[in-house]
Amino acid sequence: MFASLAGRSVVVTGASKGIGRGIARRFAEAGCRVTVVARSGEAARLVAEDIATAGGAAIPVAADIGTEAGVAAMAEAAIAHFGGIDILCANAGIFPAAKIGEMSVAEFDEVMGVNLRGTFLSVRACLPELTKTGRGRIILTSSITGPNTGYPGWSHYGASKAGQLGFMRTAAIEFAPLGITINAILPGNIATEGLLSLGAEYAASMAACIPMKRLGSVADIANAALFFATEEAGYITGQTLVVDGGQLLPESPAALE
Ligand code: NAP
Repeated sequence: MFASLAGRSVVVTGASKGIGRGIARRFAEAGCRVTVVARSGEAARLVAEDIATAGGAAIPVAADIGTEAGVAAMAEAAIAHFGGIDILCANAGIFPAAKIGEMSVAEFDEVMGVNLRGTFLSVRACLPELTKTGRGRIILTSSITGPNTGYPGWSHYGASKAGQLGFMRTAAIEFAPLGITINAILPGNIATEGLLSLGAEYAASMAACIPMKRLGSVADIANAALFFATEEAGYITGQTLVVDGGQLLPESPAALE
């Protein structure tokens, strides 16, 4: 149905686990060549190896996307191995919890540094290569938390995820003449290592308030990312896609009874 993406070079940040690993695998299945980025080089290597075992093409890169040196190394590796960058999935993110009264400046800065500054740095580092293709694609992993909802302990996280959308809207205008689109996926609660580390009780309480009565899968997010990367989605830019099993919809708990 959609034109093939085979051969496209895709950089996926935060691809050693969770949603990023799901995105990396899905793009590899679609024939893309994937740069798997995470701070842990060993974990990234295992994902790249898995992709290769399944018949795909991937390289691991150990890089901290919150730093200029990290994103430069990431872009250089993709260029060296795959000849350029067609698609960036800026997915890496962290979500430590701290209530505002007890939150240190360092904790606030860390979340902003990875989630928001890391998004800016990743996009800026890949921009020259995305521009060369004339049909570049940038897909951000934001969240419903911040843009749509709040949750005690995640004021810094929510601000970083809403901040990604503010960044995206101006980026979409700046990049449109370059043929580059930039869009954001807003996941609800997705079963990943990161989310499951919050505990079984948290996961169960979330599943209970989702109309579809289950957490999302990484494939649910990866499929949405793949759609934004297609030729056919080329007229969509600066937009958000909520992928949450309907979690935002109920007006009150009674709506789910
Ligand atoms: P996860 O399971 O904790 O995985 C996070 C990934 O990001 C790992 O590969 C991690 O590897 C990498 N990472 C973290 N900091 C990094 C840095 N500074 N530089 C490079 N890589 C870094 O998280 P997830 O649940 O898949 O979440 C992925 C994204 O989806 C995040 O942006 C998150 O905010 C968003 N999201 C998740 C959910 C959910 O329900 N899971 C919901 C809404 C939004 P290393 O630790 O080795 O660096």
